[in-house]
Amino acid sequence: MNACKLALRQEKIHRTIIEVPGPASAPVLIGQGYFTLIAGPCAVENREDYLELALRLKQSGAHILRGGAYKPRTSPYSFSGLGMEGLKILVEARSVTGLPVITELMDIRDLDAVCCHADIIQVGSRNMQNYALLKELGRINMPVMLKRGLSATIEEWLLAAEYVLQAGNRKVILCERGIRTFETATRNTLDINAVALVKSLSHLPVFVDPSHGSGLRRLVSPVAKAGLIAGADGVMVEVHQHPAEALCDGQQSLDPDEFDRLSLDLQKLAGHEKRIWLDLY
Ligand code: PEP
Ligand code: MN
Repeated sequence: MNACKLALRQEKIHRTIIEVPGPASAPVLIGQGYFTLIAGPCAVENREDYLELALRLKQSGAHILRGGAYKPRTSPYSFSGLGMEGLKILVEARSVTGLPVITELMDIRDLDAVCCHADIIQVGSRNMQNYALLKELGRINMPVMLKRGLSATIEEWLLAAEYVLQAGNRKVILCERGIRTFETATRNTLDINAVALVKSLSHLPVFVDPSHGSGLRRLVSPVAKAGLIAGADGVMVEVHQHPAEALCDGQQSLDPDEFDRLSLDLQKLAGHEKRIWLDLY
C-alpha cells in the first residue's frame, strides 16, 4: 500500500464522514459511527414500480435509494437501462420519499446528466480502473461510491480511490462487491478480509454489496450481516417487487418482505456491534 497517500489513515482517530445532502433537511451521514442502508432494484425498469418500491423501501428503513439507469451488461442483448428516462424517475422517487439516490455512471459523456440527477455517483466494478473517469470524478464535489473491480487487489482498489482523492474530491466511499475466485457455486466471493483490512488501513467509509457479492437471494441476508460485523459502515442491497420477473439480477434480489426483515436485523446489529467495531479499528 506504499503508493497510497490520501486514502490511508494517518492516525487511529482519522476517519472520513461523508454528508449526503439529499432532499430532506438533514443530510444522510456515511462513515464510522453510522450505519447506512442503500436499497433498490438493480435497474430502474419503469416509473410506477420504482415509485411504489421506493416508498416501501423507505418504510422498511432504507436511507438511500439505488437504481441503475445505465447498466453495464455482460451481453449486449440484455436490458441496459432506461438512460435519461431512468434518471428522471430517480429524481421523482427522491422527491416523493425524501431519500437521496445513487446511480451508476458508466460513460464520461453522461457525467453532467448523472451529476444533475443523483446524490451519489456509483463507479461500477468494470470501471474501477477507468482512470479518465476517476479523474473527472475527482473534479466534482459529490460523493462517489467506488466499487471494487472484479479482479482487483486491495491495493489496486485503494489506488483507484487515490485518483479521485488526488484530483480534489475527498468524498469517496469504497464498496466491496465480491471478487472472482475459483468458486463457481456463487456468482462472486465477498471478501470479508478486504472489509476488515480496508477499515483498518483507510479512513474512507466501506460498504458491502451482498447481492453481487453472492449472487444468490438466500445468501444475501447472512452475507450482509457478516459484512456489517466485519466493520462495514453500510450495506447496499438489491430489492425487487417480483424478483422472478426482474429485467436484471432477479436471482440475487430480495423481495420487499425479505428486505424488511433484513433491515430490522441490520439495524439491531448495528446498534449492538457499533461499540465493538470502534474498539477494533
Ligand atoms: C450494480 O450495482 O448494479 C452493479 C452493476 O454492480 P457491479 O459494478 O459491482 O457489478
Ligand atoms: Mn445488479
